[in-house]
Amino acid sequence: MEDEIVILGSGGGRHHIRTQYRATGGILYKFNGIQSHIDPGPGAIVRLNQFKEDPVKTELFIVTHAHVDHYSDLSAIIESSREILHDRNYNYYKKGTLITTNEMLEYISDYHLNMLEKIVKFEAGNRLIYKGVEIIGTKTVHSPEIDGFGIRFNLKNYSIAFTSDTMVYNGFSEEFSGCNILILNLLRPNSIVCKRHLCTDEVIPYLNNINPPLDNLIITHFGSYMDSPRSTKNYVPSQVIKLQVNTNIRNIVAAEDGLKIKIRKLLK
Ligand SMILES: [Zn+2]
Ligand SMILES: [Zn+2]
Repeated sequence: MEDEIVILGSGGGRHHIRTQYRATGGILYKFNGIQSHIDPGPGAIVRLNQFKEDPVKTELFIVTHAHVDHYSDLSAIIESSREILHDRNYNYYKKGTLITTNEMLEYISDYHLNMLEKIVKFEAGNRLIYKGVEIIGTKTVHSPEIDGFGIRFNLKNYSIAFTSDTMVYNGFSEEFSGCNILILNLLRPNSIVCKRHLCTDEVIPYLNNINPPLDNLIITHFGSYMDSPRSTKNYVPSQVIKLQVNTNIRNIVAAEDGLKIKIRKLLK
């Protein structure tokens, strides 16, 4: 299994949940032979099958916060991560690790939690070594009601981070310093500000302050202002150009549903 990102959904927010105009299945991240599923939102299990990925291979489940576009399919994904659930005496096999916020555990049944080998309650600033890979919780400023974190993986040859849903904040650039690849949840285009998310114009100066500069930026989790029947056009291509022109980042990629990117190709 080569290190790879698979976009199981490039959409975010309630309108894409309803319309599935852009899918909301989260991201598969494969590293060091480990398959992780980050933020399995509505339709995650459908998208895994649609894009010919194997849910049985998933062993690491990550939910960054308790919003439905990030967690709704978690139970289905845990149950689908094994072909056989239990032995003849209904002793359930345990498999996998779940990394998530404390409050997220209230949204998932004991039946599914008991299928897991390990549950790691996580928040920004936390650090975990998973099979030799350092995993760090990054700060988010998102919903005042719920906790959340972004997540960063420091591997031997590269470092990759997922911002999760957040606004920009003091220290945003430092959080991702030393990253080769950043996956940015960019809900809104240009200067269309949102109190709980970030837009292109707001984030550009923060991206330019990441030191050393990122090699790659992958934008995803587009909201309805960005591209949907409610928007006047698909703003994604123009945001890619804007980021290319106005940042010091070598390579900008726009997520599409089903897009598969080998990490090797990003590290050239
Ligand atoms: Zn979201
Ligand atoms: Zn959210």
